[in-house]
Amino acid sequence: MGAQLYLKTLDKLESRLFKALFERDIESAKLIIRKENSILKFKKTADTLTKDILELKLPKATQEKLTRRGITTIKDLLSFEPLRIENYSLKDPKSIKNGEYCAIKGIVLSKNRGLRVLSVLLNSKGVHIRCNWFRLTPYIKRMLSSIKPGDEIVCLGKASRDGFLLQLNHPKLIKAKEFEPSKRIVYPNIGLRNTTIAKAKEKAMLMLPKRPFDYLPYSVISKNNLPLLDEFFEHLKSDGADSSIQKRQKYEEMFFLLLGLRLQEKRLTQKTAPSIETQADFLDEVKKHLPFELTNGQIQAIGEILKDMTRSKPMLRLLQGDVGCGKTVVALICALAALKANYQVAIMAPPQPLAVQFFLQADKLLAKFKFKTSLLVSSTKKKESVYQKIKSGEIDCVVGTHALIEEQVEFKNLGFIIIDEQHRFGVEQRKNLSSKGKFPHLLLMSATPIPRSLSMVLYSKTSLSTIKEKPANRGKIKTLHFYKNKRQEAYKIAIDELNKKHQVYVIAPLIEESEHFEDYRAAIKLHEELKDGFFKGFRVELLHGKLKPEEKDAILKDFKEGAIDCLISTTVIEVGIDSPLATVIIIENADRFGLSQLHQLRGRVGRSSFDSYAILITNNNLSDTAKKRIEALLKTDDGFEIAQIDFQLRGSGEILGTRQHGRDLKYTNILKDIKLINTVKKDIDMLLKKDYPLNDGLLTILKREWKERLSYINVG
Ligand code: ADP
Ligand code: MG
Repeated sequence: MGAQLYLKTLDKLESRLFKALFERDIESAKLIIRKENSILKFKKTADTLTKDILELKLPKATQEKLTRRGITTIKDLLSFEPLRIENYSLKDPKSIKNGEYCAIKGIVLSKNRGLRVLSVLLNSKGVHIRCNWFRLTPYIKRMLSSIKPGDEIVCLGKASRDGFLLQLNHPKLIKAKEFEPSKRIVYPNIGLRNTTIAKAKEKAMLMLPKRPFDYLPYSVISKNNLPLLDEFFEHLKSDGADSSIQKRQKYEEMFFLLLGLRLQEKRLTQKTAPSIETQADFLDEVKKHLPFELTNGQIQAIGEILKDMTRSKPMLRLLQGDVGCGKTVVALICALAALKANYQVAIMAPPQPLAVQFFLQADKLLAKFKFKTSLLVSSTKKKESVYQKIKSGEIDCVVGTHALIEEQVEFKNLGFIIIDEQHRFGVEQRKNLSSKGKFPHLLLMSATPIPRSLSMVLYSKTSLSTIKEKPANRGKIKTLHFYKNKRQEAYKIAIDELNKKHQVYVIAPLIEESEHFEDYRAAIKLHEELKDGFFKGFRVELLHGKLKPEEKDAILKDFKEGAIDCLISTTVIEVGIDSPLATVIIIENADRFGLSQLHQLRGRVGRSSFDSYAILITNNNLSDTAKKRIEALLKTDDGFEIAQIDFQLRGSGEILGTRQHGRDLKYTNILKDIKLINTVKKDIDMLLKKDYPLNDGLLTILKREWKERLSYINVG
């Protein structure tokens, strides 16, 4: 509380200081500055918090284990929370709950040695308590031999209560007169002793200034009743996370995420980008070269994107739409607009098979307009010459994987970047690509829609395009579920389709068999079985992640061209692979896949006017959530609905493509905490509207928090 008061005083001091300066009352101003050197302190706290834990000079092994856990700064360390606190103060045995850590005082009634268990019976205020040991270590032996019936002792441990019977397994026994209440702070197991972690935290705490300044603005702290920074760290050290601590954890997490997004938006609007104008007849001209009519959703999305690109502000737009709704052609048409305005286009579509496919589609369309498209992936031969041609402008459009963002890639005049399936894509990388040109427009595409409530918060309305419908005259996708004892029926459907000259995918969760996952089908074995079994006489091929990129590309090309009837694969085909004649996808061990993943896989079929089948094969007994996932798929094929259910089932999801860095939202649950998220959003809007001078401390932390997260934030 003292600190609260201190901060309030400080606010007052600051305004008095400004007043004094304003009135040129230098003497008073000096006095005030001497009294509290406040502004410097903000910065000092933040600088300390963002320091590397290297500065703590911890033993090398400790340092390494912390780092492996993702704890790299003083702030990370101080925020590292205990798994639980074991509170060993004396408890009345009647009030002890099952699972509670406790200390109970009692008189030893008896010691018993059974076959497998050694036990001591205690009497505490008329309640009997059994202490059990199943392993006899020298320590326990010594402890037990020093105790005899009639002694008054205290036992410490985790209680298990079964009706009236109260037991402690592997407790510690102490003579009653030696007992002192104690607390054991247990951290998640990262290969370090709890005391080692506690000591490291202690050391970190010492590095902070005496009264650390809160980097969160005071108005925000008081409005939301959040604990102050020093209270916060102190609690995390000694009491673990209670509800107010949790509130701050969530608040901070969202605060930095949203503030970063807002500042990024703000910063982007201050940059100039090429203004790309298109001729009035542009779309009509392009349409002549398409093998199909664009859907209304596609036309609308194209309109929104092109409109953004006419501005001289860099576009940052997310194009979302369910699998198969036709995002690729939308992106390519917009690429064409940029090309026609004499700008280069970069398309990033990892993994490699997807990039190759995207390249083929791009080349097919763009070549009609005399633009040169190239592929740049890790296996590309003569990369140097590709780099050279990108730099000279000879190549107009380049499609690739991560190879695209290598240092050597330099554009002559990059105006537009497209990133497909952004959720699978490291965010840091996006930044590299942007910095190649001046400030190119950026279009992100995703087939994993985020719930609307969330998208409204994360992206401002204008930067989201959504394609709702799928192209017309598509056949239906029937989703079927078979238990594995009915597998034969599932494969019969596939054989019928193969006989109609259609194609089939079979997906297995593993590449090779594994003793750890006995029930799981493995692609290699399945391929052996199927080609001489159910699929005998058809052309059956195998595809998985361990093949060389060239091999994968060749197989996918053959499949697309119809030279392969049936592809046995792992989930490498999950994203974006497109072969219209595929009408069946069989997913083995479907209960082992995530909901969105299953929906993505299902989207591999249903790309022609023929009806298709998505067949889920599972074990007979399903877990509750597996059951819910399967039910969801049988019930709906609307990607938005699926995403919503997925969010519900999984809690906070992998949003914003941060998964690659192992940094999901740690505390906030996107669905359950929507109220808090909205509060944070409002607070930030308020701060930014007032042109609140974001203090240096806050910005220092913000930059650090975002380092491994979203892209080109460079505030200040
Ligand atoms: P996604 O949105 O999942 O990336 P794609 O862009 O891969 O979908 O498109 C899926 C398939 O639909 C492709 O074979 C594509 O050629 C086709 N397609 C796209 N738009 C249309 C349309 N308007 N009419 C018919 N087929 C279309
Ligand atoms: Mg796609």
